[in-house]
Parts: sequence; C-alpha cells; structure tokens
Amino acid sequence: MLAGCLTATVSAVAAEASDKRSAVADSIVQPKIFINTGFENASPMNWEIDSAGRVIGSMVYDHERFSKNRAVNHFHFRIEAPVGTDVTVILENFDNIWNNRHASDLSDRSRYVVSFDNKKWESRSVKALPGRRMQFSLKMEAPHAYIASVEPYRISDLDKMLAKIGRSKLAGITTIGKTAEGRPLEIIRIGNENAPKRLFLRARAHAFEAGGNWTVEGLVEKLLSNDEDSKRYLKRYCVYILPMANKDGVARGKTRFNANGYDLNRKWDKPADSLVAPENYALEQWLHKMVKAKKRPDLALDIHNDAGGNLHVSRPDGDISDYLAHMEKLDKLLRQYTWFTEGSTKPSFRNPGTLGEGIIERFGVYAAVYELNYEWIAGLKKAPLASDWLSLGNKLPEVFYHYFE
Ligand SMILES: [Zn+2]
Repeated sequence: MLAGCLTATVSAVAAEASDKRSAVADSIVQPKIFINTGFENASPMNWEIDSAGRVIGSMVYDHERFSKNRAVNHFHFRIEAPVGTDVTVILENFDNIWNNRHASDLSDRSRYVVSFDNKKWESRSVKALPGRRMQFSLKMEAPHAYIASVEPYRISDLDKMLAKIGRSKLAGITTIGKTAEGRPLEIIRIGNENAPKRLFLRARAHAFEAGGNWTVEGLVEKLLSNDEDSKRYLKRYCVYILPMANKDGVARGKTRFNANGYDLNRKWDKPADSLVAPENYALEQWLHKMVKAKKRPDLALDIHNDAGGNLHVSRPDGDISDYLAHMEKLDKLLRQYTWFTEGSTKPSFRNPGTLGEGIIERFGVYAAVYELNYEWIAGLKKAPLASDWLSLGNKLPEVFYHYFE
C-alpha cells in the first residue's frame, strides 16, 4: 500500500517535470545560426540567440597575472547559417581594464573583417553601442562567414613561412626556447652574420596584433627575393626576427597576455622569470649571447597594433640625444619610403618596461615599439588588410638600408 502510494507520487512528480521541460523547449525558437569557435586562433566566447534572433557574443577576458588589468580586443569566430540569412551580431565585454582604469578601444572607427572563404577578407564598419558593445549585420554569402578583429595570421601561416625560409640559402632558423605551453620559439636570420649592421625585429608579443606578422612576412619575402635590391640590402645588414613571441595566445585566440597572464611587452627593466615569462627569458638569453659574441643589434623594433599607429620612441633616463637623432631619421625614412604618416610619440610620452625602453637600458640596443593602426591607415585612407601590411614589409628593407647608411 505504502509502496503503491509512493510510486504514484513519483510518477506525478516525473510527469510535472516533463511538462515543465516541454514548456521550456517550446519557448526556445530553434535557431538557424551556429557560432563555431573550434578552430585555430578562434577566440573563446559565450554566445546565445536573443528573442529578436540576434547573436549575442560575450567575449572572454584575457587577464593579467596579479593585476586588475584585463583585455578583449580580439574576436575570431565562424558564423554557420544558410546562404541568404541576415545575421545581426552584438559583441560584448569590451570593458577592458588598462593600468587599473576602465578603457576600451571601441569607437565609431571600430571595424571588423569578414571572409566567406577564409582567404579573401573585407573590412567593414561596426556600430558602437552603449556599455562598450559593438553591433554589425551581414548577409550570408556562403554557408560560412569568418569574422575577426584583424585579418588573422595563425601559427600555421608562420609555419608555411618558416618552411620557405628553411629552403633558402640566405637564411637560417634557430630555436631559442619554448613558450609556457611548450611551443618552439624561433629566431629567423636573413643575410650574412658578418654584414656591417644588424637589425632585430620582434612581432606578435600581444596575441591579437596580427599586423606585425603580416609586416614581417612582407619583409622576409622582399629580402629572400634575391633581386638587385635585396642583394644591396643584405650587403649592408643582417636581419634577426622573433616572428611570433606570444604563440600560446595566438593558438588560443586571445588578446594580449601569455599563457601565464604575463604581458610580454612589460617589465623589460628587469630580467624575466624563466617560468612565468619563458618567451622573454629566451629572448634575453639570445640577446646576451649576441652581445657576448660582439653581434649586438644596431636597431631593434617591436611591432604591434593599436588604434594610434605611432612610432613609440623610448625615453629612458640619461643622455639619449644620439638615440633620439636616430629615431628622427627612422621616422623620416618611414614617411619617405612607406605609407607611414602617423609620426612618432611626443617627448612627454613614456612607457617604461616596454621592450623599446628595456633593451636600450639593459643591452645598449637602440630600440622602439612600432605600432600599426589596426583601424585605419591614414596614408592610404583605408582600413588595413593583410595586403597593406605586406606592402609595408616589402618597403621596410629600403628604410633600413638608408637608416644604416
Ligand atoms: Zn601590443
């Protein structure tokens, strides 16, 4: 009797739960849109379709270790929906914290890039919404639409370039260490080690800033072309490049920090911790070796993306008049031979701890951070795509030729 009563109660409860479930299921309109983030360099994000059928994408912040700083600039995902579908996307969580202040790069100049074949990309504007969110709409021209903050340059793109370099007699590749997650860190050498001058370039210390990688790709292509110009350049200087410092961040589609939440363009005033920042530690060891072998680089540039596009001149304490004269020369040559018009940072600007400042002070290498505006190229009056950064990279060897004159 008791058992029968219990069974009846259990089935009543089960029936009620099942009714509730179907009510919930009925209230959800089955969407035609899927957001895929399961591929190389895709960014972590939560997403849902709201009652108006829009995609609401919540980006996942990239956090700095032992700091309030957090960053989201990068987004990279694939919309999957039938051809002809109108898709509206709202992305949120661009409420970055920068030097303990709330900040965001979102503005009316903000853009995104889209590709329907993952090869040819187009830049389009977005609408900045209150609450540091952005909105854009598109019509599906294919079943897949790749969406990103800047035209992606992935580890697989780097591997293709490294394979090409590996076949060249003019170049060499050395592994100088590993990232926090164990990915190899390569330094590319192009040219003769005994050339009169040496140049060092680093790209992609910050994971979203693909512009530096495209620029390096353009520069490498020119230097390996073996034409009359490239022979003239390599007679004067040898180039060393750390092409992708923050490989772990790139692999995971993150914005800024390494896998341990370390900013690879900070704290260059002190030796790096080999466990927390192995990417910087490996580079420091390499620089020490170069200095010891009397092969100290004569110039170092750390290539980044931001919403300004300036050459960030370093201003460490002490007499830097000779360095400043060299940076003035570099600024002038960039304007003369490339589309660069953004100019250098003002004397009041200082950013201690960047690679630009740190390696002047610690290694005696003249260095600067070169930012590429990822929203707009003033000199070309257009939003940048990879081809613009490739063309910049193609022209840079001429700039360095005259810089080392
Ligand atoms: Zn950066």
